[in-house]
Amino acid sequence: MASVELVNLSKSYGSVGVIHDISLTIGDGEFVALVGPSGCGKSTLLRMISGLETITDGDILFDGAPVNDLSPKARNVAMVFQSYALYPHMTVAENIGFNLKVAGVAETERKRRVEEAARMLNLEPLLGRRPSQLSGGQRQRVAMGRAVVRDPAVFLFDEPLSNLDAKLRVQMRSEIKSLHQKVRTTAIYVTHDQIEAMTLADRIVVLNRGRIEQQGSPMELYTNPANAFVAGFIGSPAMNFLDADAIATEQGPAARFSDGQILPLGDRRNIEAGRPLTIGIRPEHIHLAAQNADLSGQVELVEPTGAQTHVVIQMGAVSMVASIDGSTPIQVGSPFHAAIRPADLFVFDQADGGRIRDR
Ligand code: ADP
Ligand code: MG
Repeated sequence: MASVELVNLSKSYGSVGVIHDISLTIGDGEFVALVGPSGCGKSTLLRMISGLETITDGDILFDGAPVNDLSPKARNVAMVFQSYALYPHMTVAENIGFNLKVAGVAETERKRRVEEAARMLNLEPLLGRRPSQLSGGQRQRVAMGRAVVRDPAVFLFDEPLSNLDAKLRVQMRSEIKSLHQKVRTTAIYVTHDQIEAMTLADRIVVLNRGRIEQQGSPMELYTNPANAFVAGFIGSPAMNFLDADAIATEQGPAARFSDGQILPLGDRRNIEAGRPLTIGIRPEHIHLAAQNADLSGQVELVEPTGAQTHVVIQMGAVSMVASIDGSTPIQVGSPFHAAIRPADLFVFDQADGGRIRDR
């Protein structure tokens, strides 16, 4: 196991910068998710850590020692990719043990380690099969077995579950988490799926255009996003963003929306009247009220998901999504009166998306 430290790390392809001055410390045994939209540089960063990609500038340290010039093999990392590329002519046991064989590990020791990995991943009954006789989830588990068996310093995952169907993805997610709880090997997990990052990681690092937007525990990012990008990326359904102007009322500052509705901003004394704002409202913070609520609109769409129903509410030229209890009867075209606690609101600067703090 190892700690991983990235120091002012940059990567360019020719004149195009892809990773910009990233510094990040990952503790020994920690599970960190790198999350961000497609093309933001997640795979590039992971491949730099693995040694598969050269570094343009900066340093990578494992347990305090630079590994910049070490080959992937010498770094002792194990990577699990989206495509698992098993050897079709080998059994599961041979696939899992292949790297050990190449490394010259004796047969009895190899057998012991393969069986241990198989036990951890519930692959014992499948050790004699070939990949073509396995389901997608089982194949992915074999790919993980191949990584686990090497007892690496660091696990590197690059969207390993993207090829699986939704149900299997959820199941494999739990398996990866419980695997990490057993082996406690430092893990860096790349995904564009914020739910995967939230459910798996001790800490999430949100990347955007090759830069870190914010890092923190899943709940820190959810409750205390630094800016509109992170706020919109973390949480599902995504946060609603409504443009507004700040106005002063007798009760304190308020937001006035394009359709003229006014929403009190609570105790946010630092917001001067006239300032262009973006108000962030999480769907789960919008409650169905009787009359005279904070915001009113018309139900445009109703999307039941079971426990929760997502309601698209039209307000003038804009709309927002509310997530309400699935048992609540609700009809398209009917009015929706929304109650929203001022403390649940997020306020952002409209120009740069920066969060305007409560005080
Ligand atoms: P992600 O994994 O977050 O989707 P990548 O790390 O794969 O993103 O890519 C980040 C950016 O770097 C993209 O704009 C991509 O086009 C560019 N890129 C990746 N690999 C190369 C390469 N070998 N040459 C040039 N540009 C590349
Ligand atoms: Mg990628």
